[in-house]
Amino acid sequence: MPIYEYEVVEGESCKACGGRFELRRPLGRPELTACPLCKKAVRRVLSAPNTPRVAKPLSLSEAKNAGFSVLKRRDTGVYENLTGS
Ligand SMILES: [Zn+2]
Repeated sequence: MPIYEYEVVEGESCKACGGRFELRRPLGRPELTACPLCKKAVRRVLSAPNTPRVAKPLSLSEAKNAGFSVLKRRDTGVYENLTGS
């Protein structure tokens, strides 16, 4: 279940949400437009660390490439040494 971050659009914020809060929401649910506690208008904050790592194929393949290149190099090195000599 993805975690969305919301912040109160208006200047004031209620004590419960503190003006900025995170909320777990199942996929397919309509966008949250108001704080469930104080009913003030909120907007979703697109925070970098949470979503892009999973959603973006670019950063995922980047990490994948980095991991694969390291492992592949080490494996072939070890195997070549053992069987070659
Ligand atoms: Zn609130």
